[in-house]
Amino acid sequence: MINSTTYNYLNSQETPFYYYDLELLNSTLKSIKEEAAQYNYHVHYAIKANANPRILSLIQTFGLGADCVSGNEIKRALENDFPANKIVYAGVGKSDKEIEIALDAHIFCFNCESIPEIEVIDEIAKSKNKIANIALRINPNVNANTHHYITTGIAENKFGINPWEFEEILQLLENSENINLIGLHFHIGSQIVDLSVFKSLCLRINEIQDWFLDHQIIVDHINVGGGFGINYHKPDEEPIPDFKNYFALFNEFLSLKANQELHFELGRSIVGQCGSLISRVLYVKNGINTNFTILDAGMTELLRPALYQAYHKIENLSSKDLPENYDVVGPICESSDCFGKAVSLPKTKRNDLIAIRSTGAYGEVMASNYNLRLIAKSFFSYDIKK
Ligand SMILES: *Cc1c(COP(=O)(O)O)cnc(C)c1O
Repeated sequence: MINSTTYNYLNSQETPFYYYDLELLNSTLKSIKEEAAQYNYHVHYAIKANANPRILSLIQTFGLGADCVSGNEIKRALENDFPANKIVYAGVGKSDKEIEIALDAHIFCFNCESIPEIEVIDEIAKSKNKIANIALRINPNVNANTHHYITTGIAENKFGINPWEFEEILQLLENSENINLIGLHFHIGSQIVDLSVFKSLCLRINEIQDWFLDHQIIVDHINVGGGFGINYHKPDEEPIPDFKNYFALFNEFLSLKANQELHFELGRSIVGQCGSLISRVLYVKNGINTNFTILDAGMTELLRPALYQAYHKIENLSSKDLPENYDVVGPICESSDCFGKAVSLPKTKRNDLIAIRSTGAYGEVMASNYNLRLIAKSFFSYDIKK
């Protein structure tokens, strides 16, 4: 919901663009900090959700660490003042160059996803006379019950190390002089709104910890990844995810060993609701069943609907007329360039301002130049003169 000052500001910019409500991001971060502090939990922000420098520097001021999935994300984290000793680095395909960047920066931990990766990190660390701290990213075979493209923790996925490889890993670690095992890492998927999924994860981690204990191994930290979902259907009713219940669940069901730290890697739940993609109606075109509202934003600015049929709430900020149904589409030459079918909007006309909500996560970071379009700019609530 926006007031008239904000509307006039948005309406005066060239569309399409990303708009970020930094007051909301600030309150979200306050909530995370308060709730995590009750249990001394460590939260890393998953940079891949939104790497906009203004967003990163605000998040950084709350003392969060960074979760990176590429060498360039590590560089971006450091540029925006995330301390190296709070950076974790995951990814199934870390290149030699990226491993070197991470070693040179002295990051907190590599989250390792395979045996050959551990061998390569050991080799590169040896050549640099360094020790790499690693956690094993374990595939716990827990189904996240989310879209299959964003499920990462079941046996068939490419992510992580499977339990039947543990024996071999322990042997490898004994012979890897430049590797130091400090943690066990899990990340089972994204946009998980059913908290019982995280309960299943906790119980599975308890079993896995027992296996390692039987083999005389207690790691310094457990990292349960991210994946906590947001309410895409009702962004104004639930602007801040329920971090209180989320962290309380881990406190209740995860059995940490003495002095063991618990780490999280949250992306979407931190930045998702603070962003909107603002666009203008180019044309309203007759269709067979419903009319088309053709926007000047498309899959180049927001890929999620085209990539995995993701739902985003769409609002007409300019019209208060009676509602009609529209297929809301972008200008790109692909039929998947569609933000929603039969969307009920107040009667819509050329030049109306449209907000596509909850685009703070996996929006701007996935922008592309397809059709040789320019990358859209971003604007921030803090810059509106009140
Ligand atoms: C993407 C990712 C995250 C963050 O996921 P969200 O669903 O945005 O919270 C955390 N950890 C890893 C390893 C990831 O790949």
